[in-house]
Formats: sequence, structure tokens, C-alpha cells
Amino acid sequence: MPTSPRFLFAGNWKMNGSGAAGVALADALAARARAAPLRAEVLVCPPAVLLGSVKAVLDETPIGLGAQDCHAEPKGAHTGDISAEMLAEVGCRYVIVGHSERRAGHGERDADVRAKADAAHRAGLAVIVCLGESAGDRERGQTLAVVTRQFDRSLPIRIGADDTVIAYEPVWAVGSGRVPSSAEIEVVHGHLRNRLVERMGSAGEDVRMLYGGSVTPANSHELLRIGNVNGVLVGGASLVAADFWSIVETAP
Ligand code: PEP
Repeated sequence: MPTSPRFLFAGNWKMNGSGAAGVALADALAARARAAPLRAEVLVCPPAVLLGSVKAVLDETPIGLGAQDCHAEPKGAHTGDISAEMLAEVGCRYVIVGHSERRAGHGERDADVRAKADAAHRAGLAVIVCLGESAGDRERGQTLAVVTRQFDRSLPIRIGADDTVIAYEPVWAVGSGRVPSSAEIEVVHGHLRNRLVERMGSAGEDVRMLYGGSVTPANSHELLRIGNVNGVLVGGASLVAADFWSIVETAP
């Protein structure tokens, strides 16, 4: 399990890359990680079929491996699904759950996300739980109400600073090139921090919270200096080694 509260840079490759492209990207990141000590924790989350080959490239580096989803059950008749135990066996340290693309594209509800997060913990994985409001929620002034509901219902039953990360990803910012203002992000992260402390006491101060949604080398420096932002979850820009590494290098 990772040690908090180091900043965390997580790359979500989504459904991109052939085997050769994934290995080349991992190779390029591994070379950068070997060149100088890392000041932050770095993680890549390739498509499931690339986990084994990417793991082989990253094995002797400090870059961690994560998956993009898991099933809540450890095994059984769930065609096409992958259990958290399988991800742990292939060498994952983390799994992302509740990404907005899965909530929207696979009908995942908060209870499903919580079950997956609990499954990740059962398998010894750390979990990155995504939450965030839609454009409509935002227009209706419902951002805090939505993220509070998602916090209350989709986080795992047991939260530890070393095994749970929250990623605030406004749905309208993911892949759009649009980013909330620093002040807006600070309000949401501050609100979530308060919820964590209410739930866990002072241990809630150590749970890392990532911002995600159109993070680029041009905006990461500013994003990483917002109060209660402890790292970033990066989609598109994590597919280009130089861009992802430029983001990593903006670690405070
Ligand atoms: C994501 O996939 O979690 C994400 C934030 O994507 P992007 O950086 O492309 O907006």
C-alpha cells in the first residue's frame, strides 16, 4: 500500500493503445523515472489486457500499476469482468472505481461503486474513487449536493489514508479542455476534506484528494497548489510520455 500524503500522479489511459504502443509509453516513462528520484508517487492505469506487459516494463521502477475498474465479486459467472483479486495478482497496487465514463456508460450507481471499492480493499488494493457533478448539476448549483451524495454512498466502508484516494472529476471537465476555476476546486476539495474529518477524525486530513479533468502541462502547476489538492488524475495528457512527465515534474 502507498504511503500518504505524497502527491499522487495517476495516468488513466482509458481504452487507448495497442500492445506495442502501451509498452513504448511505459518504456518512455520508465526511462524518465530512472533518470532522477521521484518527488511524488506516479501511477499508470492501462487497459486491462496491457497490465501484464506494462508491469514487466515498470517492474524495476517506482512507477506503480493501476487498473481502471474491477468487479465487486472475487470470482464467478461474470462474463467479461475482472475481479480485484485478479488485478492484485497481475501486480496492480490501485484500481480506479466510479469513473464518470463507467457511471454513464455502464449505469454504475453509487452502491455499485462502493461495492467495487470494498472489493478492492478485500484484495489488498488501494482504491481511487471518482466523483463529480455533471454540467447540469453545476448549472443548477447542485455541485456540493452531488459530491456529498457520492461521498456518502460510494466511498468504501473503511477508509484509510493509505488505501483510499478520492478523485474529484467534474464530468463536464473530463476530456473537454474545460477546467473549473481554482476557487471552485478549492471549495469542493475543502468540503470533501471536512466530510473526511467528520467521518474519520484527524486521520481524514491524510486522505489524498486528486483533481481530474483536462489536466495538462500548462495548468498542472496551478492546480497542484490549490488547497487540499494532493495530486491529479490525468486522462488524455497521460498518453504522451513527455506531457505526463511534465505534469509529474510540477509536483510541489
Ligand atoms: C480522466 O479520464 O479521468 C480524465 C480526467 O481525462 P482527461 O484528463 O482527458 O480530462
